[in-house]
Amino acid sequence: MAEMTPDQLELLLELQATDSRLRRIEHQLDDLPEQQQLDASIERVAALGREYDDVRVELDRAAAGQRQLEREIDVLTQRRDAERTRLYSGAVANAREMKAVEAEIETTVRRIDEHEELLLEVLETVEELQGRADGLAATQAAERELVATRTEARDRAAKELIAEQAELGAVREAEARDLPDELLARYEQAAKRAGGTGVGKLVGNACSACRIELSMADVGQLYAGPPLTTCPQCRRLLVVPA
Ligand SMILES: [Zn+2]
Repeated sequence: MAEMTPDQLELLLELQATDSRLRRIEHQLDDLPEQQQLDASIERVAALGREYDDVRVELDRAAAGQRQLEREIDVLTQRRDAERTRLYSGAVANAREMKAVEAEIETTVRRIDEHEELLLEVLETVEELQGRADGLAATQAAERELVATRTEARDRAAKELIAEQAELGAVREAEARDLPDELLARYEQAAKRAGGTGVGKLVGNACSACRIELSMADVGQLYAGPPLTTCPQCRRLLVVPA
């Protein structure tokens, strides 16, 4: 790597300071109670949506069952009526056949009754599920309004932080633009690997990034070496002052 000028190294440390401030702002934004309340509301809207979908599936199934029973009752009623018509039309002459038709009618009527009982149960279920679905939809609508209110509250609370974030973003851009590409790339790689801080400065006998004290031998070697090296402890870039 080409030797960096003291100005470039100074700029690199400034970029690191800017990035650290940006990261702090990001944490502050995440930690805003208004943000946490908003997140809770958003999560609740989603949970209510899932619950609503589940109830709708049950409701659709119950409604299909209702239609099926209604169709079957329709068919049975038509059969009962047809048999009654036949019975009273005089078409059935002998007593044995008449008895058979009567027995058939009785069976059909019993089946209609059974179906109607089932239908009543299904109708109750449909009504109960519909009530739950309506309730969930109303609760979700109210929670959605809360999301809107809480978004505004969050935006108000975050206003200054967001303004500062934008300002620092511009500063960062300018600083990054003035650094050699290779140095910027090495810094960003190190920062990514080390959780945000990519470069430290040798202050006394420790790197300012990891703050682990180095042996006298290490420090001596660092001062004798190039102005930009790697921290023997944390492997981040290390600026060694002249
Ligand atoms: Zn270090």
